[in-house]
Amino acid sequence: LSSRAFKSDDTIIKTAHNEIGGNNFTVMAGPCSVENEEMIHRLAAEVKAAGATVLRGGAFKPRTSPYDFQGLGVNGLKYLREAADENGLDVITEVMSVAEIESVGQYTDIFQIGARNMQNYELLKAVGRTHKPVALKRGLSATIDELLNAAEYIASEGNFNIMLVERGIRSFDGTYTRNVLDVGAVPVLHKLTHFPVIIDPSHAAGHADLVAPLAYAGVAAGAQGLLIEVHQDPARALSDAAQQLTPAQFTKLVDHVNKIRAID
Ligand code: PEP
Ligand code: MN
Repeated sequence: LSSRAFKSDDTIIKTAHNEIGGNNFTVMAGPCSVENEEMIHRLAAEVKAAGATVLRGGAFKPRTSPYDFQGLGVNGLKYLREAADENGLDVITEVMSVAEIESVGQYTDIFQIGARNMQNYELLKAVGRTHKPVALKRGLSATIDELLNAAEYIASEGNFNIMLVERGIRSFDGTYTRNVLDVGAVPVLHKLTHFPVIIDPSHAAGHADLVAPLAYAGVAAGAQGLLIEVHQDPARALSDAAQQLTPAQFTKLVDHVNKIRAID
């Protein structure tokens, strides 16, 4: 179901404010985590002004340590939804378990399946049964075929509203980059599948100064959208402090991306 052989034309995912895929380009941005009500309202307005049409923000967070900030839960979802509605944006947020699908689904337009859950097959099947758009992140050490099989789990339940997110894969040298952005995966995925391909340069980079160059590379390679972490005061962020962009940095990045897209 995921293959170009099954469906030759690009899948276009329709949401309240976006058509994702095909010749469209979608910028999704916001903080790693929703930290409080005020910050998400301010950020929503700022990323919208820069050109984003989807607001991201984690409320249920898959943190490496159980002692780190785990997100605001349902309150975070409420703040995110209100901030998005106030600014005419769609919402994308992570759902981590089957049990949370119903409550997260009440607040979000797009379910994000995190890299750590790419092969959580029960979760994939359950979001497949909802028919709500899903952004499926590539696992930390997943092959392209494994990513496509994960998408197949969602599609096999009848949900074709799937976008694939390349967010960097783990390699042997994490000293200067958190993960390795697999730019080659973009044209490969376009050849193999009809689903939209999105680049998340933030989690690949791990460092704010690397986010823009990786975003440009992904766009030049044919990505149909970007997922980027933005925070008013990245140094004080409760998660992923090193890689979040300020609104000013993000605005510059989007302007540059538009120039790259205008080339062809
Ligand atoms: C995130 O988007 O904040 C996140 C945790 O991403 P990933 O699953 O790619 O690590
Ligand atoms: Mn993050």
